[in-house]
Amino acid sequence: MNLLDGKLVSEKIKEQIALDAAEFTTQTGRKPHLVAILVGNDGGSETYVASKMRNCQLVGFESTNIRYDENITEDELIAKVKEINQDESIDGLIVQLPLPKHIDPDKVTEAIDYRKDVDGFHPINLGRMQRNLPCFIPATPYGIMLMLEYYKIDTAGKHAVVVGRSNIVGSPMSILLARNANPGNCTVTLTHSRTKDLKAEVLRGDIVVAAIGKKNFVTADMVKDGAVVIDVGINRETSTATKSGFKLYGDVDFENVAPKASWITPVPGGVGLMTIVGLLKNTLEAAKGTIYPKQ
Ligand code: NDP
Repeated sequence: MNLLDGKLVSEKIKEQIALDAAEFTTQTGRKPHLVAILVGNDGGSETYVASKMRNCQLVGFESTNIRYDENITEDELIAKVKEINQDESIDGLIVQLPLPKHIDPDKVTEAIDYRKDVDGFHPINLGRMQRNLPCFIPATPYGIMLMLEYYKIDTAGKHAVVVGRSNIVGSPMSILLARNANPGNCTVTLTHSRTKDLKAEVLRGDIVVAAIGKKNFVTADMVKDGAVVIDVGINRETSTATKSGFKLYGDVDFENVAPKASWITPVPGGVGLMTIVGLLKNTLEAAKGTIYPKQ
């Protein structure tokens, strides 16, 4: 078993991002600027946004966290998004999900200017990704592709099984793995809660991506010998054993699956760190205008 080490790869890529950001700042007199909007007090979201802000600072970006009470209306939130769309000093905008129930996440996502949509959730970016055109790729699948690229994992012709079909992870992941690109060129099976014999499907995977949201869901009897196993899951449980007061578990039963896998990501220390890298790379591209030229 070999570890797909998110810490190692993310540090290496962030070094390059920092160099590129410094060059951008020298040329333009300003730093790439990411704004994150956080609504309410969801513990997981607070941790993710804090980490995104901290990493922006580490690589020399400017970052702004705008916080709202959970009672903000949909109209007020969308008005703020539209204001940021017009602000030329801001390159990238993310609205941390989940949002309170009275706010439609699709409406908010579509209100974001697709040229600032560094989460890559806007239908224009998703459509362009499907067409293999330059776009912002959703940060988690993007980070996973960067990891596969770094370790030169041979994906062409392989059977990839993605478990979970969310808009932010499973579905875009299946598209990226199937694209005519490297990494890519997989034959992809996309599974979900209505899949009939999930175990039989996952057992066919040379590459397995687990994005379900259930602790230790993928067990050793579901995984083929020698498979590449990517664990996206972040399941938080309270714990007295850690300083933070909680412990993270993946969607894969790491202890028992790792001996069978050729490569596997740990949780923590795997995909989560690569997601941040995906976001930072998108923000840098937004600032430089390489994907969508600045007007
Ligand atoms: P969602 O809840 O949006 O989607 C979960 C998917 O899993 C759905 O498609 C669902 O199927 C499927 N599913 C649920 N139960 C089963 C089952 N018993 N059998 C088969 N499929 C099932 O989750 P996300 O995609 O947003 O997140 C998945 C996990 O990844 C979570 O733990 C989340 O915290 C984590 N995550 C981690 C990130 C990172 O940076 N590492 C970033 C984003 C998420 P159906 O569609 O039929 O309901």
